[in-house]
Amino acid sequence: MRRPVARKLSVLAVSAAVVSVGAAAPPQATSTPEKVPVAVGYGGAVSSVDADASAAGIEVLRKGGNAVDAAVATAAALGVTEPYSSGIGGGGYFVYYDAKSRTVHTIDGRETAPLTAGTDLFLENGKPLAFADAVSSGLSIGTPGTPATWATALGQWGSRPLGSVLKPAERIARDGFTVDDTFRSQTASNETRFRYFPDTAKLFLPGGQLPVVGSTFKNPDLARTYQQLGRKGVGAIYHGDLGDDIVDTVNNPPVDPSSGWKARPGDLSEKDLAAYRAKLQKPTKTSYRGLGVYSIAPSSSGGTTVGEALNILEHTDLSKASEVQYLHHYIEASRIAFADRGRWVGDPAFEDVPTKGLLSQKFADSRACLIKDDAVLTSPVAPGDPRHPGACTDRGTAAPTTYEGENTTHLTVADKWGNVVSYTLTIEQTGGSAITVPGRGFILNNELTDFSFAPANPAVHDPNLPGPGKRPRSSISPTIVLDRHNQPVVALGSPGGATIITTVLQVLTEFVDRGLPLVDAIAAPRASQRNAAQTELEPTLYSSGERSQLEAIGHSFKLNPEIGAATGVQRLPGGKWLAAAETVRRGGGSAQVVYPAP
Ligand code: GLU
Repeated sequence: MRRPVARKLSVLAVSAAVVSVGAAAPPQATSTPEKVPVAVGYGGAVSSVDADASAAGIEVLRKGGNAVDAAVATAAALGVTEPYSSGIGGGGYFVYYDAKSRTVHTIDGRETAPLTAGTDLFLENGKPLAFADAVSSGLSIGTPGTPATWATALGQWGSRPLGSVLKPAERIARDGFTVDDTFRSQTASNETRFRYFPDTAKLFLPGGQLPVVGSTFKNPDLARTYQQLGRKGVGAIYHGDLGDDIVDTVNNPPVDPSSGWKARPGDLSEKDLAAYRAKLQKPTKTSYRGLGVYSIAPSSSGGTTVGEALNILEHTDLSKASEVQYLHHYIEASRIAFADRGRWVGDPAFEDVPTKGLLSQKFADSRACLIKDDAVLTSPVAPGDPRHPGACTDRGTAAPTTYEGENTTHLTVADKWGNVVSYTLTIEQTGGSAITVPGRGFILNNELTDFSFAPANPAVHDPNLPGPGKRPRSSISPTIVLDRHNQPVVALGSPGGATIITTVLQVLTEFVDRGLPLVDAIAAPRASQRNAAQTELEPTLYSSGERSQLEAIGHSFKLNPEIGAATGVQRLPGGKWLAAAETVRRGGGSAQVVYPAP
């Protein structure tokens, strides 16, 4: 029943996205390509949430760069046009398919806690800080991993120097981009805390006002910063003057004293920056319906949690299930996988994470049997033990999933050689810490709030407590799916905090099992269950007939206006690629190809 709805949505949204730039807009500084959610053609493809950013990647591909070059170019442009979601003040996870060797590689570019951090990082007088107090402070800021990720990716697999792939972004920052509704509304929702920090207000509230839709937004400070990184390399951050500025800003947040905001200082040092490494590591791999699903291993919980849920779902033929049974099984598999994620996943440099066990079919089998066709599990569901999978049991004490902030950005790229990148980058929640590095044009992350402030379950070890140099657990799930010949089928990912996992799982199953075209699998209304009493539903599902049928077997729901903002690319026969993005969410995404097919 939902299939035609999803298709209709995508058609409607194309026109909505196209008109969003506004007919009465003043002349633009750069010509922004038309924003469309699906594109098919040759020479490579880019999909991101933003048209200027996708165009930056296409420009690099057109000039002969490969998918990695284009991914860094797109990411850098997103740092300009989506500065509240991503940028060099943050981190992310990069997944790369190498066409020549037909293998998948990944980079963990997660931010790290200061070397002085202990489990009490977010405790004050023995009590956890309020989330909002932690976010807009120096305490939440981890050592940025994005610059090191770009340098590592280019060094390993790229074909262009950093200075060259940063050029399009530098130009957009210098000449400006056209403000759209999303940029204005994201600024508006951060306005109060942006005003606490005069450098942030000066940059993002030009003339003291919210940026006007249709106006040109310039960030010359960031253009200079990119130029410096291009000339000197990312050592300017990890060993140089840019790094010194970051350290000063974290340790003495430049707050307006008259704002009354208590901006707690962090404790970052030059040592933290010098010690930072983006880690090359093996992907997670899950076999699903004869395909190989590759994603990111811990410190993100993305690969293991999507993988476990897929292994659980492998027990049910979702292609034949009714819409209600499909949703029921998807929700229950997510619930169980989140119970195991919470108990077992943290930074593997500090925690004994049973990655292999979590991804084993045997473990999934021992959990799948908990799911009933006509009844709902009670959350919080207790975790199982992937080290000793038993017969249909859980082994531990149940704990709720802790709150994590939302919203970053995902991009997906393919090139004419068949290489693919799936890359999610973040400064954690929209607007990050709200603290701009003075004169440098970028906001610092609040990624450390992804740690548990206190144990999720006081009776059990929490693998996600802060520690010195530790990476907070992420939900980021950039995914690449290969066929039996290790050739790409589809690549995708999404922002959305912990909902990233359910979004990637849902889009994958809508595409693989339910047979929806990629753009419709992305557009389909979403549900998200994360081991909580209530499952979140987007409005179309919330007001659907399926909801009451699911409630009849015990499901309980609450409304979530918008979940995630996915992008993807799909390999078609004959060197053709399809790029797909959101039709409506976040104002619609931008799918582009180098040479559109007629
Ligand atoms: N901090 C989140 C995570 O790593 C990502 C932020 C988001 O996408 O919403 O899981």
